[in-house]
Amino acid sequence: MSQTLPIEFAEQPHPSPTTPEKRAAILRDPGFGRAFTDHMVTIRYSEGKGWHSAKVGPREAIPMDPASAVLHYSQEIFEGLKAYRTANGGAVMFRPEENARRFNKSAERLAMPSLPEKTFVEAVDRLVAIDRDWIPEGEGSLYLRPFMFANEVFLGVKPSSEYLFIVIASPVGSYFKSKDSAVSVWVEQELTRAAPGGTGAAKCGGNYAASLMAQMDAYKHGCEQVVFLDAVERRWIEELGGMNIFFVFDDSSMVTPPLGGTILPGITRASILTLAKDMKIAVREEPYALDQWRADAASGRLRETFACGTAAVLTPIGTVKSRDGDFVIGNGGSGAQTEKLKATLIDIQRCRAKDMHGWVHKVF
Ligand SMILES: *Cc1c(COP(=O)(O)O)cnc(C)c1O
Repeated sequence: MSQTLPIEFAEQPHPSPTTPEKRAAILRDPGFGRAFTDHMVTIRYSEGKGWHSAKVGPREAIPMDPASAVLHYSQEIFEGLKAYRTANGGAVMFRPEENARRFNKSAERLAMPSLPEKTFVEAVDRLVAIDRDWIPEGEGSLYLRPFMFANEVFLGVKPSSEYLFIVIASPVGSYFKSKDSAVSVWVEQELTRAAPGGTGAAKCGGNYAASLMAQMDAYKHGCEQVVFLDAVERRWIEELGGMNIFFVFDDSSMVTPPLGGTILPGITRASILTLAKDMKIAVREEPYALDQWRADAASGRLRETFACGTAAVLTPIGTVKSRDGDFVIGNGGSGAQTEKLKATLIDIQRCRAKDMHGWVHKVF
């Protein structure tokens, strides 16, 4: 159902927010996704009524009936984006309208109602504004997690008639431990993440649940991340559990797997495609096979490989392990082109470089 009237937000500040001393202690070393701000946004949806009861209020537990649909059939989607503190004391977000659009595409796939894009952006804007003191200084940022889930109390299998949209925020530190910290990846040749016709292109919790067993295999093999192959041939590289992937060749050209319904259309991925064009780097969106990856790494034709997404921005891949043996990319560390693209993107996100594409959204 489409919403026509604008949604009005009620604002109810936390009666006893975290003290400045305690907050400062948390912000000194926030980690990732462990600490949370004082507030949250909630908006309710009811069939026949549409979106209503929008509120910015204290962050608190949500009462839930044990028969709530999401607990049984996983009708849930989410987004992830960051707010950054700027040099002049303001705050910005990177392409939040793209997250709003993707959120509605995910909603469509999971048979959920769409949320007006303006309301999505206003919700994150309001949370960043009310929790502005929680945006870390320096290399940290405020990670924002909008999500929506089915909340009808009913065990029948059908799209829910009730939903809850919530935004929470978590201060996060720099994802990078050191400048040259490449990760090792496990190529999963049995388990798959997404099949043609499935939910691979939707950002839904179910995809992550399906990826966890492979992630455990990766840990067992001493790797930090999993690379998934296509579900049909187990041959073509698709993406990591939560990041897209790029391959950099000796002529500086790049390859990234094409979006075809089984890969999550990353906003970082799309931004890198645009930046590469600006930098006159040729990028081919075409299938790339595991065998080819191994052969190109051995011949030296492949120089670098990196993963990309909001959480870690660009992460170089140094070592690849699989059932059929291991191989190293380049010198096993990061590469010049990965670092250059990473620096270019981060400088735009943090307002240190000219925003040529209108990607930066000012919150205040
Ligand atoms: C969120 C996500 C990404 C990265 O998307 P960004 O918009 O760049 O953060 C990549 N793959 C999966 C599976 C994801 O869930």
